[in-house]
Amino acid sequence: MHIEPLDSWVAGFKKPLLIAGPCSVESEQQFSETVAGFAGLPVNFIRGGIWKPRTRPGSFEGNGARALDWVDEVSKTHPLSFATEVATAAHVEAALSHGIKLLWIGARTTVNPFNVQQIADAVKGKDVAIFIKNPINPDLALWKGAIERFSKVGITKLGAIHRGFHSFQETKYRNPPFWQIPLELKSELPDLPLICDPSHIAGDRELIQEVAQRALDLNYDGLMIESHCNPDAALSDARQQVSPARLKQILNSLELRSSSFSNEQIKDELATIREQIDQVDREILEAIATRMSLVSRIGDYKKENNVAIFQISRWKEIFKSRPKWGEAMKLDPEFTMELYRQIHQQSVKAQTRIFNQEDEEIDLNI
Ligand code: PEP
Ligand code: MN
Repeated sequence: MHIEPLDSWVAGFKKPLLIAGPCSVESEQQFSETVAGFAGLPVNFIRGGIWKPRTRPGSFEGNGARALDWVDEVSKTHPLSFATEVATAAHVEAALSHGIKLLWIGARTTVNPFNVQQIADAVKGKDVAIFIKNPINPDLALWKGAIERFSKVGITKLGAIHRGFHSFQETKYRNPPFWQIPLELKSELPDLPLICDPSHIAGDRELIQEVAQRALDLNYDGLMIESHCNPDAALSDARQQVSPARLKQILNSLELRSSSFSNEQIKDELATIREQIDQVDREILEAIATRMSLVSRIGDYKKENNVAIFQISRWKEIFKSRPKWGEAMKLDPEFTMELYRQIHQQSVKAQTRIFNQEDEEIDLNI
């Protein structure tokens, strides 16, 4: 996949890329006031919803194409690079006719390969950047598939926006981040810029700073933050929008981590800790191998005595005790549970192999 680095196409790019602006462009006045509030902030693109995909009918669905005229009007006094969401080929056409250079695909669109393909066909051959939000469901393949569709039609200015995932469970965040999914995407597509949208993850303006910091700690390439001149009066996503003044405070409070270690001493210390980690990993694998050899012995014993492989009471006991043991060592019980689920699966597999192997041997003897 050919992906152009951000510094090759974003004027004056400095990490993190910053996309800020209202959830929706509500009026020329609201947009102009919000943009004016960004004076002095390192905003690379001003975002604004023109067409709003709402979960339920009856809520504010955006102002449509007329809002693009307001954006044009405001950009006469405040030169700006505008970015918006497109969900249909008609949106693409309208946005491109206004010279918009960055479009994103919303979370509700990424879930549908037919829609994504239609949008990809509409941008084929155009000089436009496309950022793809994660699908609302935690499905990495669907996210990657959408990115591939744009790559296949020749789009090279690509990026992924992590906006969190829908969950049936009550969580602290509106859309829990499940960080392992975007990190897996980044490890599979290391050149793809990864942008965090802490506004849609948090759903609450009080939590935006902590989510944004977490993203920077994980070496994200940029942030997309919803900002409105009068957040409480916003027609969509009011709770999660921040005023430009608050945005400034958040940005000032964020600590940037460097992605490499230039300082020699830090490098040395890091190398030493990594050596220790390597050693511990060897010990972990040795301990697991020892455990597996004990499991084989038990397998032999069960076979000889005609006892079933899976002893539910034993596994109940293990799943009860191990998370507790781990917790006493400050390990997350969920993590220990997951670890033992994997170990259990492997043990059952190994014992099944023993049972079958012996059968084969018996067969051969016959
Ligand atoms: C938005 O960016 O305002 C939006 C609708 O986001 P998402 O697609 O992430 O829900
Ligand atoms: Mn929004």
